[in-house]
Amino acid sequence: MYSNFAQAILAEPPGQILEGDEPLPVQIAGYIRHQIIHDILKPGEPIRERVIAEQLNVSRTPMRDALKILSVERLVELIPNRGAVVVKNSIDDIADMLTVYTELEAIGGVAACRMANESDFLNVERQLALMEAASAEGDRIKYFRANQAFHLAIIAASRNKTLIEIHANLSLRLYRVRYLAILEQEVGQSRSAEHHELVDTLRARDTARMAELQKAHFTVAWRLIDDWSRLKRQP
Ligand SMILES: [Zn+2]
Repeated sequence: MYSNFAQAILAEPPGQILEGDEPLPVQIAGYIRHQIIHDILKPGEPIRERVIAEQLNVSRTPMRDALKILSVERLVELIPNRGAVVVKNSIDDIADMLTVYTELEAIGGVAACRMANESDFLNVERQLALMEAASAEGDRIKYFRANQAFHLAIIAASRNKTLIEIHANLSLRLYRVRYLAILEQEVGQSRSAEHHELVDTLRARDTARMAELQKAHFTVAWRLIDDWSRLKRQP
């Protein structure tokens, strides 16, 4: 079970856009979302509605509806008389999101231990295999996407709709910084042991260990935030 947000995260980068059968505003939102979370449109940058509407050959009404979708997702801020700008999160904002996200990972992991069936286990293991293949190839982007899919698959196995939705929204809002971070880091064999232990613990339905592991897995993200605040670097 995946939320729409999760599908947005997992969607292939839209090469040929506006060909799907989803409502136009949803497709336009997908196009702009892709540019925001991959740091093509930068934080604080105004979204040039007219330019994008021309690029996509759409009118301004679905364009506005698309921006409303992105504003609900908190990726875009709608400013009266100024139009839409890409949300700019401070280090504190990101730390706040990460605090909640880390707890949701733990809650989701525990629920997944209780709820997961064989097909959930297999799904999680499939994502792990994809991650290891990407790691072997040294393909960072592929690794990043498989890593996201792996962690989302665990949360999906929780079967808790509310949790899945809130978790996916935070994933989306944290996507950009995690994406930039992975481009800086080595594609890690180092995390492979942790991922295998997550799978084993899920299969063993060991809820206490799962909560610990899920939280510990985010120490890397926290270290990154520490680095940024020390270096006074804009996330
Ligand atoms: Zn991971």
